[in-house]
Amino acid sequence: MDFLLSDEQKMIFEYGRNLAADFGRDYWVECAEHARFPEAMYKKVAADGFVGVMVPEAYGGAGLGMTEMALFNESLAEQGMPLLSLVVGATMGLSLIASFGSEEQKRRYLPPACAGETRFCFAITEPDAGTNSMRISTVAKSQPDGGFRLNGSKVYITDARESDYMVVVTRTTPFAEVKRKTDGFTLFIVDTKAAGIEMQPIPVSVKIPETQYQVFFDNVELTADQVLGEVDRGFDILFHTLNPERILVGAICAGLGRYVMGRAVEYANERVVFKGPIGAYQALQHPLARAKTEIELAGLMTYKAAWLFDRGESCGPGANMAKLAGSEACIRAVDASLQCFGGNGFTKEYGIFDLFPVARLMRTIPFNNEMIHNYIAEHVMGLPRSY
Ligand SMILES: Cc1cc2nc3c(=O)[nH]c(=O)nc-3n(C[C@H](O)[C@H](O)[C@H](O)COP(=O)(O)OP(=O)(O)OC[C@H]3O[C@@H](n4cnc5c(N)ncnc54)[C@H](O)[C@@H]3O)c2cc1C
Repeated sequence: MDFLLSDEQKMIFEYGRNLAADFGRDYWVECAEHARFPEAMYKKVAADGFVGVMVPEAYGGAGLGMTEMALFNESLAEQGMPLLSLVVGATMGLSLIASFGSEEQKRRYLPPACAGETRFCFAITEPDAGTNSMRISTVAKSQPDGGFRLNGSKVYITDARESDYMVVVTRTTPFAEVKRKTDGFTLFIVDTKAAGIEMQPIPVSVKIPETQYQVFFDNVELTADQVLGEVDRGFDILFHTLNPERILVGAICAGLGRYVMGRAVEYANERVVFKGPIGAYQALQHPLARAKTEIELAGLMTYKAAWLFDRGESCGPGANMAKLAGSEACIRAVDASLQCFGGNGFTKEYGIFDLFPVARLMRTIPFNNEMIHNYIAEHVMGLPRSY
């Protein structure tokens, strides 16, 4: 067992820190305030080779793994600048194509995306099916010419309008006609500007740079070479991207938790209202110490899950536990930090309360913590399914 980061991994963590320092946290806050895509920062990340962290060098990437992607996301969040765009596009879109795309797809889509010239988003959630992805009804019906017609809608799709391509999870065989409920799914790489696609932004009350959209597909024509993986076998590759998403949420939560606690410690060491600094009070120290412990534990599980993923081992239990532990620890870390700031914590100037909705969001997305508990109870512990 080895808990030490390699020099390259340390460098990646350092890169995230330096990037955040170069742009300054005000840049992220400004983007988040106006739900504006952090174009300049994303371009810089791409130019420095970090959008394609998980893409092989032959296709313009860095040829590294999940661990490095997690470290990068963690380090940005540790500076109070989490980026969901790196989750949905750089990780969920690109690494899936790198692993399961045809040679032609890899050559066509990966180099420009790694260079930051094109961007990807990922669409699975639907208004009616919600958490029950088995019941999605967005359908890609096969056509006599070998192509498909896409109909249906997706909801809360991060960066949909800001992206050039969307990896869309569809059914090519309806639920009613499949033997196993996991049969009949197909993933497509869809041009977001294709005829028949419409988008509506969904205003959300969480200040993050990314915008969410409802996306409508009305007879969108797809060709066979837009299929990612195999027709009707999409479910087999889905978890190759849903587990990384959960690992990255764990990493982002660990980073964000450290950011708010760092701010709280700095403030609590300086602020004096009675005799000494408020940081001397155990009533403030203990919630912070507890949150710190929970954050570090979540961070460890994140690394473990990423490490397993990189070795092609089963990482589902670790990915789910990292997401659960990270999101819950992050909520408590923000709450404990907020308390240290007193009234100041609620001001724009100090900016701590603004991170509370961000942390709280992670309990619900990308897979709500109730379902994560269900997964652990059923698949890790062998308890009966509750739903
Ligand atoms: C800011 C944001 C960004 C997002 N980005 C994307 C994206 O890029 N792509 C994408 O595809 N989706 C995205 N989503 C969608 C997100 O993944 C879903 O909102 C989330 O998975 C919850 O699904 P739902 O909203 O349909 O809730 P529902 O399925 O309606 O569930 C509501 C609640 O019911 C409870 N629940 C449901 N089922 C069970 C059960 N079996 N046992 C116990 N409790 C249960 C949970 O508490 C859950 O929170 C995003 C959402 C948000 C808010």
